Amino acid sequence: MAKKNRYDLIVIGAGPGGYVAAIRAAQLGLSVALVDRRPELGGACLNVGCIPSKALLDSSELYHRCRGEAKDHGLLLKGLELDLAAMMKRKDQVVSRLTSGIGFIMKKRKITVIQGEGRVLAAGRVEVEPPDGGARQTLEADAILLATGSVPQELSFLPMDGKRIVSATEALSFDAVPSSLLVVGAGAIGLELGSVWLRLGSKVTVLEIMPEILPGWDGQLAAALRKELTGQGFVFELGTRVEGVSIAKSGKVTLKAVDKQGQSKNYKGDRVLAAVGRKPFTEGLELEKLGIELDESGCIRVSDTFETTAAHIYAIGDVITGPMLAHKAEEEGIAFAEKLVGKAGHVNYDTMPGVVYTEPEGAFVGKTEQQLKEQGISYARGTFSFAANGRAIALNAAAGFAKILADRQTDRVLGVHIVGPRASELIAEAVTVMEFGGSAEDIGRTVHSHPTLSETVREAALAVDRRAIHSA
Ligand code: FAD
Ligand code: NAD
Repeated sequence: MAKKNRYDLIVIGAGPGGYVAAIRAAQLGLSVALVDRRPELGGACLNVGCIPSKALLDSSELYHRCRGEAKDHGLLLKGLELDLAAMMKRKDQVVSRLTSGIGFIMKKRKITVIQGEGRVLAAGRVEVEPPDGGARQTLEADAILLATGSVPQELSFLPMDGKRIVSATEALSFDAVPSSLLVVGAGAIGLELGSVWLRLGSKVTVLEIMPEILPGWDGQLAAALRKELTGQGFVFELGTRVEGVSIAKSGKVTLKAVDKQGQSKNYKGDRVLAAVGRKPFTEGLELEKLGIELDESGCIRVSDTFETTAAHIYAIGDVITGPMLAHKAEEEGIAFAEKLVGKAGHVNYDTMPGVVYTEPEGAFVGKTEQQLKEQGISYARGTFSFAANGRAIALNAAAGFAKILADRQTDRVLGVHIVGPRASELIAEAVTVMEFGGSAEDIGRTVHSHPTLSETVREAALAVDRRAIHSA
């Protein structure tokens, strides 16, 4: 009989990296323990990240459409009111439905879930301190996986107090709509949560240090999205470096910043959302004692089997290098478990999609035009606008375009960039084609149902060869 507290694998962290690795390892026949300090499974993604933010984006979009657009559809809504508490309750229900679903899968897969603070004592041994301060228990395993995720980055001159100056976690649970919200950082969190509060009635100003929103994304996509968001009421202050903050007795916050001309500027608001990135979370793990090295950004260094610099201790997800995305963590979780049992797990980082769930949504996979130019790769470009797509017009969501970048000689798809309705879903086709090494011609010759938004992607593929059908 197996020894009590002895497993093939102990996973510390039950986010999308850790819990997915646990499921895949259990599917492959390993005995697994999953340790998390939170009572709910799912990590940042399910509890304070992807899921609650999308629940609020969907609710706030519905409100916004009812207020602005319902009449265009011949719907005269009278007495529409916002019940923020009910909206928050729905968000919490969406989260708990999903976190309890993960708990159910753990039971079915016979994965032992232990709540508590996990710490690696040595290779093969993990100590877990329960949340109530009760007796610590020691677990043993052949392999240990660190999937401890990330936490918000805090700027030294912008300390978060959780009330006036907050991270995404608090901005997902405001109990009243701030009359003015200052957002520091025009990345995914700033734009998504900025959208939520803008639609619910806040005046939203976004201060971004770089010259364009979504730094690192395709410039044409970012500029087009910025124009759309500006039209919705966002105020963007680009090239603006925040340098300090003060809070008046009234509670009003003033951000002190320097603009692109080097001029000092003050911005006043009721609340500040600091969204300047996240950092890998390794606090309390005493990694240096175990011989586990970090890189210059504080990420745990791993090999191609996700093994750290200490034998039999592995790491995946936000705590290692790469984009901090749930689907990246999940893919690494699966690949890690498969490699652990000698299978050929793999993660294709070249086809890792990125999405921002604004309205319109932005999504991409592969290289941007800027990267192709920098790398001297000769490419052809095909773009097609949603303004000529029947479904988008019927949806009243005809802003944006799809752009396909293909190798000029081979026609192989190198990058796809979409700003438009449901870009988050449309990008999946591009990811699949790129995964198979497909060409723009492949997309152009594939039947797409009519009328669908996906026809825009097909037309963009045809436009690579200057033969889009629905364009003059
Ligand atoms: P995490 O999800 O951070 O999980 C780590 C877990 O480890 C946590 O549950 C933590 O409690 C636990 N833990 C840490 N240390 C210990 C310890 N010593 N002992 C026990 N437990 C420990 N990504 C997307 O792809 N799409 C999105 O739409 C998206 N939206 C987001 C919105 C917001 C507001 C935020 C903040 C993030 C969003 N992300 C999104 C990013 C996504 O949430 C992360 O990339 C993802 O959660 C990383 O997964 P992970 O498993 O590596 O870590
Ligand atoms: P981010 O890295 O996406 O954006 C941070 C932004 O802050 C950047 O544009 C950066 O230039 C700016 N910035 C940094 N310092 C600044 C300063 N002093 N003044 C003004 N601007 C400054 O980070 P985030 O938006 O905080 O998100 C954190 C992580 O969570 C990211 O890795 C993101 O990918 C992930 N996330 C993903 C999604 C999604 O996939 N839809 C949604 C939310 C969060």
